[in-house]
Amino acid sequence: MTRHIPAPMPASLRPSRIPAHAARGVVCPWCRAQPGSPCVIPSSRRRTEQVHQQRMAAWAQTVACCTTCQVEPTVPCHLDGWPLKDGAVHPARHTEAEVTAA
Ligand SMILES: [Zn+2]
Ligand SMILES: [Zn+2]
Repeated sequence: MTRHIPAPMPASLRPSRIPAHAARGVVCPWCRAQPGSPCVIPSSRRRTEQVHQQRMAAWAQTVACCTTCQVEPTVPCHLDGWPLKDGAVHPARHTEAEVTAA
């Protein structure tokens, strides 16, 4: 009989850090976090690992074109000629931005 010794889990399979999201490269319109800095929760001034939705939208607007409303990078999304609420972008643009960043 051969005795099987369980192999230890290689440390390299367990990343210690989550890589920063590419959206951190732009200013957050919501909490005013500067490029390269994590978002902060305005009420408590605490840093958060999360990226605000408004920052994701601002980033998507900067790096990607929108296939829904047919605009170039940096041009805000629009619906029937009106900008989307709170600087939001179409879902397709978020997808486009993720593809661009990958
Ligand atoms: Zn933020
Ligand atoms: Zn759009």
